[in-house]
Amino acid sequence: MDNCLFCKIVRGEIPSKKVYEDEHTFVFEDIDPKAPTHVLIVPKKHIEGLNKATSEDAEIIGRCHLTAAKIARERQIEDGYRTVLNVGPKSGQSVFHLHVHLLGGRDLRWPPG
Ligand code: AMP
Ligand code: ZN
Repeated sequence: MDNCLFCKIVRGEIPSKKVYEDEHTFVFEDIDPKAPTHVLIVPKKHIEGLNKATSEDAEIIGRCHLTAAKIARERQIEDGYRTVLNVGPKSGQSVFHLHVHLLGGRDLRWPPG
C-alpha cells in the first residue's frame, strides 16, 4: 500500500528501530513505548485490521503471534507479557495496517483500559 505508515516502515522508506525480520513479518520498537518491552509485529502483507482479515490471512496472523512469542523468549519476559491487537477506532487503533503489540517487562494490570 503506497500511503500506509507501516508499509513504508517495512520497505525502509521511514526509519524504525528494527528488532527482527523474516519472510513474512517485520518487528520494530514502538515510538511511544508503554512498557520496557513494547514492540510492534506487523505482517509484510498489508491487511487493514483484524476486522478486514480473511481466511487467507490465517497463517500470517498466526505467524505474527509466534514472532511475538519468539521476541518475548529472547527478551526473557516469559513470566508475563501481553499481545494486543487493537481493532477499530474505538479500541484506539490509529494505524490501519494490522499489528500485534508485544508489551512486557513490568507488571501488567487486568482489565486493560
Ligand atoms: P494502534 O494504536 O494499536 O494502532 O498502535 C499504533 C502504534 O504505532 C502506537 O503504539 C504508536 O505509538 C506506534 N507508532 C506510530 N508511528 C510510529 C512510528 N513511526 N514508529 C514506531 N511506532 C509508531
Ligand atoms: Zn500497510
